[in-house]
Order: sequence, then C-alpha cells, then structure tokens
Amino acid sequence: MVPLDGQRVPQTDLYFNVETVGTQAFFRETYDLVIAGASFAGLVAGREAARLGASVLVIDPQGIGTGQTSACATTLGALETLGMTGSVQQIHREMIVHLEPATGRRRDPLSFRLPFAFATFDYGQLCRSLAANCADVGVEFARARVTGFQAHHVVTDRGVVRGTCTIDAAGWRAPLATSIAPNHVRRDQLSCGLEVEVPQPRDAPASGLHFWAGHGTIWPGYAWAFPAGAVTRLGVLAFPEVGRRVQTHRQSEGVTVGIPANGASVGLRTALDHFMDRPGADFWSPDGRLPWHSSSGSPSAGRHLHGGFIPCSPRKPVVGEIMCVGDAAGHCFGLTAEGIRAAMTFAIRAGQLAGGVAAGRWSASDARSMYGRFATMRQPYFVLLNWLQKWLSSLGDTGIRVYSEVARPGPIFWLLMAQYRWAADPSPLLRHPA
Ligand SMILES: Cc1cc2nc3c(=O)[nH]c(=O)nc-3n(C[C@H](O)[C@H](O)[C@H](O)COP(=O)(O)OP(=O)(O)OC[C@H]3O[C@@H](n4cnc5c(N)ncnc54)[C@H](O)[C@@H]3O)c2cc1C
Repeated sequence: MVPLDGQRVPQTDLYFNVETVGTQAFFRETYDLVIAGASFAGLVAGREAARLGASVLVIDPQGIGTGQTSACATTLGALETLGMTGSVQQIHREMIVHLEPATGRRRDPLSFRLPFAFATFDYGQLCRSLAANCADVGVEFARARVTGFQAHHVVTDRGVVRGTCTIDAAGWRAPLATSIAPNHVRRDQLSCGLEVEVPQPRDAPASGLHFWAGHGTIWPGYAWAFPAGAVTRLGVLAFPEVGRRVQTHRQSEGVTVGIPANGASVGLRTALDHFMDRPGADFWSPDGRLPWHSSSGSPSAGRHLHGGFIPCSPRKPVVGEIMCVGDAAGHCFGLTAEGIRAAMTFAIRAGQLAGGVAAGRWSASDARSMYGRFATMRQPYFVLLNWLQKWLSSLGDTGIRVYSEVARPGPIFWLLMAQYRWAADPSPLLRHPA
C-alpha cells in the first residue's frame, strides 16, 4: 500500500494507520482481491491469492490475532498443511465424552480414539504467522470496518475500495453479503458459545478433548475442556432451539436457568460458572497448582471471557459479486461447532480462484461459479451435521447415551471421522491447486 505522501509502508507495520494521513483510507482504488476480515478465512485466502500474484487488501477493525473467539482446536494435519505447527500448544489423540444425565448419576466417561490427531493452538501466534506470510507476498492490510457493498465497491468507515474479486471473511455477521441479501444470516441458525482460558492444575494436567453432554449440563448444547499446554479452555455452547428453553443446571439441584431461544448468551455466563464449579472443576486451577474447589465462589468472576455466535447451517457461498468464506458462509459444522478447518479450507480455494483471475486464467464471474460448485459439493456434510444436531437436541439422556455408545466402536467412529475430515480438508487443495 502506498500512502498519500508516496512513502512505502514498512513491511513490519502490518496495519496502515489511516488516522495519520487524513480521511482517505485506501491508496489504490482497485485491488485484484479485497477481503473483509483478517482471521482464519481472510488471512489464508489473502496468502493464497497473493502467492499467485494477485494484489490483495485485507480489511479488519481489530489488530491481527487479538480477536480470539474460539477454543482453537483443529486437526494437526490442517496446521501442518498450512505450515502453522509453530502455534501448536498440545496434541490430542483421544476424545472423551462425559455423560451428564439429569438424574446426576454419572457413568464412566466414554473414550474415543481419534483416527487422526487434533491440536490446540495459540490463536494470536497463528494469526501473526499467517499475516507475516501474507506481508512477505505483498498483501496489504487496512484497519477499518467494512459496512457494506455498493456499486461494485466495498464500503468501509474509512472510505471505499474496489476489488476485481471480493471475499467476505468477516465472520458470522457477513457484513458484505448481508448488505446485498439481508436474509443471508438466519438468527434461528446460530448457536452461541462462551469460554474462559484458565491455568491447568500443574500436577494433574489433562490430555484429550473433553466434552460433557446430557440434560444434567447445558442442554441442548454441550460443555468442553480443551487442554492447551499450561492453560486449558473451558466453555459452554447452546444450540439454537426455537421455542424451547435451555436447561443449564440439574433440576434435581432445584435450579434451572432458562435461556430463551436465540438469546442463548443470556444464560451462558451462569452455565459457564456452573460447569467450572462442578463437572469441569478438576480440569482447571485458579493458581496453576491445585484444582478448583467446588462451591468456593463464582469461578468466572474477574476473568476475561470470549465467545460469540456460531452459524451451524450452510449459507449461500456466493452472494452477488461476493464469495463468502468461513463463518460468513455458515461453514461451521453443526453438532461439533468446528469451523476453523472449514474456514481455512474454503479460503484456500477462494484465494486460488481469485489468484487465477489476476493471472488471466478465468474471469471473476467464472471464479465465483467455480467457488460455488466447490462449496455445493461439500454442502451435504454441513446439512447432515446440522440435522444431527437438531435430532440429538430432541433426545433424552438414554438416547444420548445409546447414540454415543453406538458411534464409539473403532470401525464406525473411524468411518464417520474419515468422512468428517474429507468435508473440509485443506491438504488436497494445496497439492492440486485450482
Ligand atoms: C466459544 C467458541 C469456541 C469455538 N471453538 C472452536 C474450536 O475449538 N475449533 C473450531 O474449529 N472452531 C471453533 N469455533 C468456531 C470458530 O471460531 C469459527 O468457525 C472460526 O473462527 C471462523 O473463522 P472466520 O475466519 O470465518 O471468522 P472469525 O474467526 O470470526 O473472524 C472474523 C474476522 O472478521 C473481522 N470482522 C468482523 N466484522 C468486520 C467488519 N465489519 N469489517 C471487517 N472485518 C470484520 C473480525 O475482527 C475477525 O478478525 C468456536 C466458536 C466459539 C464461539
């Protein structure tokens, strides 16, 4: 990016500070690719397109790597493919499901051996590494808020800019796509999650990805503890359930906190406190040494919490001239709420296609059609998991237990997981670019 006075912005200064040079935000009127959002989807798409020679502008109002919303667990293979293993905090080869029935009668946790490893990683580090890769291939960054798309231009609070191709990678709100199609975001298809990052007990660190499910915990939804080296991420997630109230405490304890449908965040704080205090208490420590003592206060008080809405149903991948990637396209799996791998996978393809436009291999309109076909081929997996989420939400505790036990035997679970991985696997896309 070239500022008004003609000096080049140093590569280390990833964000061009528009305040210092007046009101005009962008110093080129047109880029080959303009991207809203500098998280998983935006950074990966920008890197791919610029590697193929495209001029790329990435716009985000936040500093890079500062807006963590998630538990940051994804497949180790995805991080390897992207060259991001430096951000790995802990590797997991097992998933553990803790059944929490309303009766309070717990059973032994069910352990699932994972056919491929998952890893928890450092969000800030991963984003900064991707941004550094982007800067190396000439991607420009601007700190601004995208507000819409008008007359072929991306509109921001700092001015307008035009891309031959445009990607909305700005998360579940999808500001570019919604300015064209107001119904792009369906509020009844948003789950909501809240999470805290706390120290692990030093003498008893956990391994594996732990989930809690059942009517004795937050339901419909689940709670989790994802160990990540010295820390662990504990969270709760409410699925959207129109017309129902989400139960967050055991009724047998006489306390039930109702979460109105699609206002899920209202009761999540209470649910998180309950989870940290009861089922999750052994997995974290207030001082990094001893586990939390149940009922010794409000565990989340004074701690930084993060989270947000999670689209659990696929949306249109192409809206007008916009390619939607990641949460903006609803590419977050239902049931598991895993969206990072999908964001990066679809971003690779969208970035490659935009790079192909810059190289004169096809038109922007052809690129959008090819991206639409790519997304449509994978759509059944997202639809299936959304359906599974809805179906499981309707089950009682016995149904949840039977489902978990049926899915657990090696061959069944491994077959399901192989399909699950294929639905959003970045590796083949880098081996066989568009
Ligand atoms: C509590 C919780 C836990 C989760 N845990 C996991 C997990 O462990 N594993 C997993 O795979 N998925 C997880 N997810 C889902 C995952 O976080 C998302 O699917 C993923 O972040 C989507 O990536 P993205 O790049 O599309 O969007 P985001 O990561 O949401 O990034 C959007 C970017 O756009 C920027 N932006 C927003 N508005 C604008 C605007 N108007 N203009 C410009 N930029 C804008 C934001 O600042 C941000 O940088 C979790 C989600 C939640 C809420």
